Amino acid sequence: LLTDQSDLAALPTQFPANKVVLKNMIYNELEDWVESMGHKKTRAMMLWRWLYGRDKWVESADEIIGIKKDFKQLLQDTGDFGALALQNIYVAKDGTRKILFGVEEGSTIETVVIPCDRGRTTVCVSSQVGCAMNCQFCYTGRMGLKKNLSTAQIVEQLVVASRLFSTELGPITNVVFMGMGEPLHNVENVIRAANIMVDLHGLHLSPNKVTISTSGLVPQLRRFCRETACSLAVSLNATTDEVRNWIMPVNRKYNLHTLMSALKEEISCKKDFKVFFEYVLLSGINDSLEDAIRLTKLVDGVPCKINLLTFNPHKGASFVPSSKEQMLAFRNTLIDAGLLVFMRESRGDDQMAACGQLGEPVVPEAPR
Ligand code: SF4
Repeated sequence: LLTDQSDLAALPTQFPANKVVLKNMIYNELEDWVESMGHKKTRAMMLWRWLYGRDKWVESADEIIGIKKDFKQLLQDTGDFGALALQNIYVAKDGTRKILFGVEEGSTIETVVIPCDRGRTTVCVSSQVGCAMNCQFCYTGRMGLKKNLSTAQIVEQLVVASRLFSTELGPITNVVFMGMGEPLHNVENVIRAANIMVDLHGLHLSPNKVTISTSGLVPQLRRFCRETACSLAVSLNATTDEVRNWIMPVNRKYNLHTLMSALKEEISCKKDFKVFFEYVLLSGINDSLEDAIRLTKLVDGVPCKINLLTFNPHKGASFVPSSKEQMLAFRNTLIDAGLLVFMRESRGDDQMAACGQLGEPVVPEAPR
């Protein structure tokens, strides 16, 4: 990765002062705050558009033009426009950008911007510092959970990515919550952030272009399905409880039957809704043709797309990626059963699909 410092000057590099963090508020709350400060509610919409509107994304009250002096003064005195401290930007050879942000207490998170073909640009956001879920194939899981990100800290990742890269790459069209953390372990702030991202008068992403990925926290998954119209990806990665209990310990609490039953129930009333199942192929662990056949049975009755992912080996990992031949045979078994299947080549977005990959490498437990 090459470090490109040229864009850093325009953005704040310090943690924000102790003021009202504007991006923590959904629109109704912003309206109430504006009113409580003695201003007309209608000014909230003006502010909302400056915070989130196309080509606005202001980082301070000083950038706002055409508003009453007393309202601008209020924003200068009490409003905090930022939420994260920009620390660095890395540009990979394939065009993927990684933005490193500082969070309080010396922690950092990554946001990844992925230019795709056909005019699409995807931003992969983090939802936590670290992660409690301890998936055995993931760096981030070894860190443990350090902190939930606030609503503002999640939304800010998209706003800064838009501000930095929209001119060069075009508008951000997709957001995936597949960075650091289990989004549904921070469900309150993730739902609020997702709803801000799809708001018609602001960032205005299509709900089906905002995808939250979960390892399978069932109660939160139900809540997410009921409170947003956004897309859902489930990181599945195994077809038996025995294997999933080991590589994804969340399965010990919510096993495959519980997970799939909840999914079927929650999406039954959603029109044209498809679940994305993510499946990282690990040689000799979950990639047999018996696994492929079990997978077809598991997802039976769930409108879905399946993403087969290459495992990116990292220092300390005891897993090995499946061979190309095995991946193709696995894929063909799924296709023969009538499933919609995609195979992802190893590049920036493979990391995203496996959730965050930050953290210290630790050798996973041996298979039992
Ligand atoms: Fe957490 Fe996702 Fe990594 Fe699992 S794969 S440990 S849920 S970040």
